[in-house]
Amino acid sequence: MKIAVLSGKGGTGKTLVSVNLAYTLGKANYIDCDVEEPNGFLFFDKDFNNQVKPEDIITAKIPRVDELKCDGCKKCVDFCKYNALAYTKRLMIFQEVCHSCGGCMLVCPQKAIDEIEKEVGKVRYSRFEDVNVFTGMMKIGEASGIPIIKRLLSLADDKDTIIDCPPGSACIVMESIQDADYCVLVAEPTKFGAHNLELVYKLTKLFDKKVGVVLNKCLEGENPSEDFCINNNIEIIGRIAFDKELGYLNSKGIIIAKEADKYKEVFEDILEKIRRDNDETVIGS
Ligand code: SF4
Ligand code: SF4
Repeated sequence: MKIAVLSGKGGTGKTLVSVNLAYTLGKANYIDCDVEEPNGFLFFDKDFNNQVKPEDIITAKIPRVDELKCDGCKKCVDFCKYNALAYTKRLMIFQEVCHSCGGCMLVCPQKAIDEIEKEVGKVRYSRFEDVNVFTGMMKIGEASGIPIIKRLLSLADDKDTIIDCPPGSACIVMESIQDADYCVLVAEPTKFGAHNLELVYKLTKLFDKKVGVVLNKCLEGENPSEDFCINNNIEIIGRIAFDKELGYLNSKGIIIAKEADKYKEVFEDILEKIRRDNDETVIGS
């Protein structure tokens, strides 16, 4: 089973929930698709940076022009929706914003464009107890982490998988949730939290995903994210209290479900509700 964990913005507790769900599952894959700012590995393996291997480098195809064949028709420039091409006496290619769609090569009447490989980031692997930890890291200045996310998602074995998605609702989030069986939406108890929850909820509905919400940083009193769930008939599968001790442990990179049973029970309960929603009899080990 693949469970994607999303939030409409950064800082809501998405990685807290992802890491602790993976740990609570026992035998599991944890995949950090937040390739612009990956940090889940900090909970699992402090020596992670020593584990780079050459085969972990991810490349993407970018266009290269043969200026002897190019006649300046600009068909490729008109085609590129990402403004990665411009023609001023010669064709200029802005690699950083190219999304590797390959379209310019196809539309060129002179067959003046071919493709070369360019490094866009890395994928790293480590292990913590029975959790396989996969982390994608996009190179600074790159426009799209999609090739890295595709590779990450291909690495998981058949154990239950937690996908720690990028924040927001852009195309890299869509790529991350495509094959997920269930989406957990993490939301804060603020007006902004509710607004971002709505955005990400609409995204999951586009993909027709099963969805449950975890309300994080819960306090007594008003909770606009909770109101949004009630008004839209969305199941709340977990509540994590605003808790100084939890905040302290989390800020130290400690897996709270490992540290105390009271926290582990919160994540066991969330997994139980996901299992029920998916009509599965067994989840995890
Ligand atoms: S490959 Fe696609 S995104 Fe890149 S320059 Fe060509 S048309 Fe633009
Ligand atoms: S479509 Fe081909 S021939 Fe036309 S400007 Fe682009 S590279 Fe040159």
